[in-house]
Amino acid sequence: MKPTWKTYPYIIILILGSILCLLQEVIASEGDRHKVHRNLLRACLNQNCSTPEQLNHFHGDQPLVLWMLGWDCKHECRYLSMWTTVSHLIREGTPISSIPQFYGKWPFIRILGVQEPASVIFSIANGFAQVFNIFQLRKKVPNTAPMYYVGLAQGMIAVNAWIWSTVFHSRDLAWTEKMDYYCAYSLVLSGLTATLLRIFAVRDNGMNMKVAVGIAAVTSLFYLRHVCFLALIRFDYGYNMKVNITTAILNFILIVAWSLWNIKQQPYLWKAIASVVTINLCLLLEVLDFPPLWWTFDAHSLWHASTIPIAFLYSSYFIDDCLYLDNAKIKFRKEA
Ligand SMILES: [Zn+2]
Repeated sequence: MKPTWKTYPYIIILILGSILCLLQEVIASEGDRHKVHRNLLRACLNQNCSTPEQLNHFHGDQPLVLWMLGWDCKHECRYLSMWTTVSHLIREGTPISSIPQFYGKWPFIRILGVQEPASVIFSIANGFAQVFNIFQLRKKVPNTAPMYYVGLAQGMIAVNAWIWSTVFHSRDLAWTEKMDYYCAYSLVLSGLTATLLRIFAVRDNGMNMKVAVGIAAVTSLFYLRHVCFLALIRFDYGYNMKVNITTAILNFILIVAWSLWNIKQQPYLWKAIASVVTINLCLLLEVLDFPPLWWTFDAHSLWHASTIPIAFLYSSYFIDDCLYLDNAKIKFRKEA
């Protein structure tokens, strides 16, 4: 059977479900349980991190940039032991494709203490893309357009999310990971909120503020509830992933169905469809999880790279739509 746009959401569920399984697998890593790694780590900790004198010596010798990025003695030992274990495995004949993960991550070559340099560079690029899109919106769209401030808010939420992605990929610590997850969900949910506002709150004469405030209140409260649950009750990766997937699928279905319904009158809506379809296709990169190329570019970093052009496509749709709405509003007021 040939897949149609109606079956696409089910394909996405399947793909995202696979990602969830992979993520669960990743949490328990083979590399840090390897005998060589365990022995190296124990020796390193005993020699460098077990007495106050040793720790003083460690801090005295440590480059400032590593200290600033929070590389303590234990994490430094883990990093050095990981690479010695990888070298040992390669010498033993283990193919690169079979090198295991360590502590839930592939071995990455750090640069100036930055743990995942490729993901950091692509997160920064995504952040700049969003800043550029905010400026484009301000330049091209009058602030009287019904979705103008929604676009600005969405852009700022995205910039914030990419800042925290940069922080997390620079240094994976419990709190940076949590901030990345909370802000990533704010980005996903802001996309759904913008779609709901566009479909249900915008009228010919502008935004219906009662409906808009209602939608914004519901999604904001849901966001607060989600973050409070993760922060105060349980930081549950599976639950967080399910909430993200459900939100993304709902947004996907709404935006594709609404765009197809209106594409005759608003031909630019192909950009909305193309951006949500490509973003879901690019998620395949996460499924194709593989050891980093040159110990730098893993599937996750390529996923972050792939969202840069999509941000421009989505922004182009959003600007076209704002201009369309502004014209429709002016026309409605003239006729009224
Ligand atoms: Zn990331």
